[in-house]
This record gives sequence, structure tokens and C-alpha cells, in this order.
Amino acid sequence: MRAFLCIALLAATSAWAQQSAKRNYDAEIRAALASAKDAAGFEYLGTLARNCLLPQSGGEDASDKVAAYVANPAAAPPRDTWYAEPAQVFDNLYFVGGRIHSSWALTTRDGIILIDTLYPYNSEELIVGGMRKLGLDPRAIKYVLVSHAHADHIGGAELLQSRYGARIVMGAGDWDLVGKYPNRYKTMAPKRDIVATDGMKVALGGQSVAIWLTPGHTPGTLSYTFSVSDRGRPVHVAYSGGTAFNFVNDTPDPGIRNFQTYIESQRHLAAKAADAGATVLLSNHSEFDNAYNKNRMLAGRGNGPHPYELGADWVQRYFKVTEGCARAAQLRLERQLADPRPI
Ligand SMILES: [Zn+2]
Repeated sequence: MRAFLCIALLAATSAWAQQSAKRNYDAEIRAALASAKDAAGFEYLGTLARNCLLPQSGGEDASDKVAAYVANPAAAPPRDTWYAEPAQVFDNLYFVGGRIHSSWALTTRDGIILIDTLYPYNSEELIVGGMRKLGLDPRAIKYVLVSHAHADHIGGAELLQSRYGARIVMGAGDWDLVGKYPNRYKTMAPKRDIVATDGMKVALGGQSVAIWLTPGHTPGTLSYTFSVSDRGRPVHVAYSGGTAFNFVNDTPDPGIRNFQTYIESQRHLAAKAADAGATVLLSNHSEFDNAYNKNRMLAGRGNGPHPYELGADWVQRYFKVTEGCARAAQLRLERQLADPRPI
């Protein structure tokens, strides 16, 4: 009898232990979302909405179709949906992007480093036209850094390479995409040129841009740290080259692994931003860095602080938002793997 009681007690204890060892995925997901939300404040609401709240795309585009606006230029979105005025944002950094996507011209005494190139249908007006409007010569573009090979950032690279002989820098994985999808990249396929490596520095006229490999959004996504000056004072910038989850993210395999790659890239750039003393966070979408609104705030700045200069802590918060949202999504896949109920 006593032995039976002991066995019963043991069985009950081990069932309880198993129960308590079972992970509470819901609580972990809530904690990851809360950390992203807390970090976002009002500064990164766009990043929070895109990565934590809105439905995700589910996967990467594997089609090779000519874009509608390339096949038929009249199919391009109307100008008033994308046009934005160019702006001088720092002493040596100029915004030549649009309402939604950004392109930046970093001027040096020996020419210009251009970061990201918009769509094929608006790069001519926004980049070439915008530079002229600001008194910059587009023929002075020596390097074009393409953060990743999606049409909203690579669209003008072929034009800038063929017309001005600019050197194009891109990640290996994204050069491969351009080679793999000849139709998709029609009119936006620069000839294969400089393949970025982690820590590579693109130097020109006494300035340099440090390149960091941050795969995730695409296999070859690039991010940067560099310095600009504000009324003569040095200011350090971190530039995040890919934010949304445009990879296979709706099945545990390879979703869990893809989120891990993304999370590690966020940590990598966060560390480089901290090392560089970055107090400005730029991205290639206004949705994530509020560039369009900040450019308009600059006009009323007077002697106040620079609207782009958030401080080092707020730069770090951006990465807490992206990491928190990615972790929550990764945990959902881990839960699915542990308990494959329909979700
Ligand atoms: Zn993209």
C-alpha cells in the first residue's frame, strides 16, 4: 500500500514538473511584443506597426516578371503620391528621396556617395532633378550604395552607372538576385560591380561609409555607419538598410531560422551603431525614420535641436523594436512547431 502511494505520488509530481516545464509561449510572445512597444514610444510607430502589428507578407518574391511600370510607364503611380522636395539635412548630407522612399547624397571634396536609388520611374526626377535643384552635380556621384535589391531602392542604379559611370556597391546575395531575375530587374540591373563585405569602408574625399552585412530582409541587405556634420559639429549616423520581414516567415522551417538571421543582424548593427556613437537613425523608408516629416520640421528648426538627432539611446531603441517584433513572430513559429494546432 505504502509503495503504491509512493509511486502514485511520484507520478503526480513528475506530471506536475512536466506541466510546469512546458513553455508558456503566449506569455513569451506578449513579453516580446511589450518590449517592442515600450521601445517604440512615439518615434518608431511606423516600424512597430509594420513589424509587430500589420499582417506579414509570408514570403519572398520568387517571380521573374517585368514590373507593370516598366512594361508600361503610364502604369507608374501618380507623381503626387511619391513626389517630395529635396532637402539639405546636414552640412554634407542631402535628401533626394520621395514621400515614401529615401535616397541620400553624402557630399565630399572629391565627389558624392549616393545611398539608395528609388524606383526606375522616379529616380530621374527625384535624384538627378533633386540634386540639380540643391545645386549638386549628379555627374559627381562616384559610388552608389544599394542597401538591397528591391525595386524601390535599386530602381535608379542602372541609370546612374550607365550615365555617370558611378561604381555600384551591393551585397553578394543581392547581386545574385539581379543575375537570377532578368525580367524583374529590367531597366534596374547595374552590371555586377563591387561586392560588399562586412566592415568594408567606402572612402572618398576624406570621408568614409562603413558597410555592415545585415542579411534578413534580403540575403545581401547592407547597413551603414558614417559621420556627417551639423553646422560644423560632427554627428554620427546609423543607417538600417532593410526593416520588414520580406523572407519566408509563415512556416517554422525555414521561418525560425530566417528570423534568427534577421535578429542577429539587428544586434550586429545595434553594436556598430553604439561603437560609432550614432545619435541619428536613418532608413530607406520614411515609414521607419520619419524622414519626410523631419525634412519639413527642419525648415522651422531655428536654433533648436536637429530633428533627426535622437540621441544614442533612441537609436538603440529602434533595434529593440525590430528585434522584439521579430522575436514575437519567431516565437509564434516555435509554438506552432511544439504544438501544431491551427493558429
Ligand atoms: Zn525591401
